[in-house]
Amino acid sequence: QEQQDTSKDGLMKRRKKIGVLTSGGDASGMNACVRSVVLYGISKGCDVYAVYEGYQGNRGIQVDGECVLGVVVDGSLVDGGDYIRKMDWRSVTGYLSIGGTSIGTARCMPFKTREGRLQAAENLIKNGIDSLIVCGGDGSLTGADLFRSEWDGLVRELRGADRITQEEATTFKHLTIVGLVGSIDNDMSSTDITIGAVTSLHRICEAVDSVDTTALSHSRAFVIEVMGRHCGWLALMAGIATGADFVFIPEQPPSEDDWETAMCTVARRHRDLGKRKTIIIVAEGALDRHLKPIKVDHIKDVLTDRLGLDTRVTILGHTQRGGSPCAFDRILGTVQSIAAVDAVLASTPETPSPMIGMNNNKVTTKPLMDAVRLTHQVAEAIESQNFEKAMALRDPQFLDELKVFNETTILYDNSILLPAHQQLRIAILHIGAPAGGMNSATRAAVRYSLNRGHTIYGVTNGFTGLAHGSFEKLDWMGVDGWTTCGGSYLGTNRAVPGKDVDMGMIAYQLQKNNIQALMLVGGFEAYVSLVELEKVRSHYPSLCIPISLIPATVSNNVPGTDFSLGCDTSLNVIVSSCDAIVQSAQSSRRRVFVVEVQGGRSGFLAVEGGLAVGACAIYIPEEGIHLPRLQGDVNFLKSLYDTDDPQKSEGRVILRTEGVSKTYTTQVISEILEDEGGARFDSRTAVLGHIQQGNTPSPLDRIRASRLATHSIDFFEEMTRTALDLAHSQQKAPPLELCKNEESVAVIGLCGVEVHARPVKELLPMTDMKNRKPLDEWWHRDRSLVDTMAGRSYHSCKE
Ligand code: ATP
Repeated sequence: QEQQDTSKDGLMKRRKKIGVLTSGGDASGMNACVRSVVLYGISKGCDVYAVYEGYQGNRGIQVDGECVLGVVVDGSLVDGGDYIRKMDWRSVTGYLSIGGTSIGTARCMPFKTREGRLQAAENLIKNGIDSLIVCGGDGSLTGADLFRSEWDGLVRELRGADRITQEEATTFKHLTIVGLVGSIDNDMSSTDITIGAVTSLHRICEAVDSVDTTALSHSRAFVIEVMGRHCGWLALMAGIATGADFVFIPEQPPSEDDWETAMCTVARRHRDLGKRKTIIIVAEGALDRHLKPIKVDHIKDVLTDRLGLDTRVTILGHTQRGGSPCAFDRILGTVQSIAAVDAVLASTPETPSPMIGMNNNKVTTKPLMDAVRLTHQVAEAIESQNFEKAMALRDPQFLDELKVFNETTILYDNSILLPAHQQLRIAILHIGAPAGGMNSATRAAVRYSLNRGHTIYGVTNGFTGLAHGSFEKLDWMGVDGWTTCGGSYLGTNRAVPGKDVDMGMIAYQLQKNNIQALMLVGGFEAYVSLVELEKVRSHYPSLCIPISLIPATVSNNVPGTDFSLGCDTSLNVIVSSCDAIVQSAQSSRRRVFVVEVQGGRSGFLAVEGGLAVGACAIYIPEEGIHLPRLQGDVNFLKSLYDTDDPQKSEGRVILRTEGVSKTYTTQVISEILEDEGGARFDSRTAVLGHIQQGNTPSPLDRIRASRLATHSIDFFEEMTRTALDLAHSQQKAPPLELCKNEESVAVIGLCGVEVHARPVKELLPMTDMKNRKPLDEWWHRDRSLVDTMAGRSYHSCKE
C-alpha cells in the first residue's frame, strides 16, 4: 500500500522510495553504503529498497508479498535469488564488518541494451521506486547515467505498450540517480579515494609483509602482481607502504626503453648495500612506453637470468578484494551514503546526476558524467602513449606519491643530489607516546635526505637524549624495513624542552653537533616543544634553524593537521577489537559492552571509531557525562532490547574515551547498565589500552608518514636555501643562524590529502592549550552521525 505524507499545503505527497544497488566488481565498504542508505534513508522518512544482484536485480520477484510484478530481463537471468526487497532497520544488522556486498553484485550484460533498461525501468516503477543510489565503478555509473538520460523515453515506451498505467507514467516522470564510487582500483576521477581501495591496500600490504619475511629468510626476489588495469594506485601505494624496490604502473611506464636494465641496476645497487630481499610490485595493467604489457613472468626471468636471484612470482588475485573492511572504508561508505541520500532528497529534474566523492577530507557532490568522462580520458591517454597527460589526469597527490616512492625507496646515483653547499646536517627525534608511522617517517626522512646529500642523525630518547648528546648517524640500510614496524626505534618520552629538559643544554648540543635542521615526530608534547623552542630562539642562535613537527599520536589532537600518524592504525585496532567483542556479545545474547578507547581529551577515536563499529552510544570529553545523559542511554538500550527478536538479540558496543570523566568510569557505567538493564540485557567492559598504539602501522599511516617526512626535508631546504646560497656566494662558512623567520618553525600536516607547512605562530591562536587540542576539529561534523546511525536523535542524547 502506498504510504503518503501530508505536506504543509495539505496536498498528499508520495514518500520517497529509494532503491540501492551495488554493481560491478565487489568492494569492501559497499555494505557500509547499503547500511547507511537504509538507516539514514529511513530516518529521513523514505522507504528504502535493496536491489539484489546489481542491475540484474532490476527484475523484481515477489518477496514476502511486498514487491510483486517483477519481470525477467531475459532467459539467461532466470536463475533464482534475485529480487527487490524493502529494507528495515534490522535488515542491515552486522553489515559494517562484512566485506564484499551482502545484497550481491553482478556484471549484467542485458542492462547494456535498451531492452534490458526498459525492463529495469518497468520493475522500478512497479515497485514504486523513484530514486536509485548506485554503488559501483565507472561502468556501473555510466550505465546509471545512461538509464537516467533515457528515462523519459523508457517511460513513454512502457506507457505506449500499456505496460504501465497513465498514473504510473505521470508519477514516475523523473528518475533520480546518485552515484557512489565503489571500486578497489581508486581509478575514478573527481574523487580522492573510492570505497574499497584502502581495504584492498590493507590486503596487499598484509600479503607483501608476509612475503617479505620469507624473501628475507631465503634472500629471494619476489615479483608481486596486484590489481589495476588502467590505474596504478594500488601498486604505487603498496610500493610506498611496504618499501618495495621497484613498481610498475600503467600511467607511468619506466622512462627507459630498456626498463629491464633500469630495474636490474636498482635491484643490484640495493643488493650491493646488503639487502637480502628484492620486492617488485606490478600492476596487472603495467605497460612499457610502447604499450607492450610488462608481465610478472618476464620480470622473474630477467631477475633470475641477469642477477642470478632466486625469484618467485606471487599473484594476489582476488584476495585483494576480500575480507572485512578497514576503518577508513567503513567511515567513507557511511558518510558518503548519507550525502547520497541527501542528494536524492535535494535533487530536481533539472540537476544532472551527481556522484558523491571525497576531496581533501570533505564529501563532495559533482556531476557524475563529468567524472566518468575524465576517468575514461586516463585510459585514452595511456592508449595514445600520452603518459604525461595520464598522470596529470590523476589527482595531484598521485604525482607527489610517485616522487615519494622513487626518492625514498630507490637509492639514486647522485642524480638528485643538491649542490654541496646546500646539503644539511639534520637531526630527527621522537616525542610522546609511540604511534604507528613514527618509524616509517624516520625511514623516509633518512632515505630522502641521503638521496639529496644531507647527513641525518637520529636522536635517541627524545629531548632527554638530545640534551645528553645522543646523536646517531643514520644510513640507508640502518632503516631498512622500518616502514612496516610499529613503535619507535629511536625511543621516545614525554620530556618537553624548557620544562623537563634544560633549554641551554639542547641549544648547546645542537650547536656542538652543528645541526642545521630539526625534525620532531610526535603528538601534543611535540607541539608544546615546538612552541617552546620557537619562543626562545632570540636567546639561542643554534635554535635559529628550521624546526618541523610531523604529527604522530593516536589522539589526533595536534593543531595544523587533519590526521596525525598513528590515528588510522589505532582506528583499525578499535575496529578489529570491537568486531570480536560484538561477536562475543552476540553469542552471549543481550549484552552491551562498554569499550574504553584512548584519546586523552580528544573524542576523535570514539567518534570515528563509533562510526566504524556502529556504536550505539559514545562518551567523549568534549561533551562529558552527566546523569540525564546516562538515563537517556539506559532508556534507549531498554527500548532496543524490548523490540529485539529474543532469539537473535544483538550484541552492542558503547565507546567511552578514557579521559571523559573521573566519576563515570568504564566500570561504573557498565555497572549502571547492568543494574538498570535487569532481565533485558547485561553489560561487560573492555579496556583496549595500549594495543591501540598498534603493532604494524596501517598502510595509510605508512604512506602519510613517508609523504610528511619528505615534505619536511623539502621544507628544511626551502628555509635554508637563501642563507646557504649567500654564504656560498661570499665564500663563507654557513652561518649558525640559518633562519629566524616565524615560518621556519612549523607543523607539517595534512589538509585532507594535501601537505602543508603551518607555522606554529599561526596555529597558536587556534589551539586550546589547556585541553591539548585544536579549537576547531573537522571530525565534530561526524559526531551526530554516530547517533543517527544508531537510530536515535543527537539532541536527545545531549540532554
Ligand atoms: P569495476 O571498477 O569493479 O570494474 P564497474 O562498475 O566499472 O566496476 P563494469 O563491469 O564495467 O564494472 O560495469 C558493471 C555493470 O554496469 C555492467 O555489467 C552493466 O550492467 C553496467 N554497465 C557498464 N557499462 C555500461 C554502459 N555503457 N551502458 C549501460 N550499462 C553499463
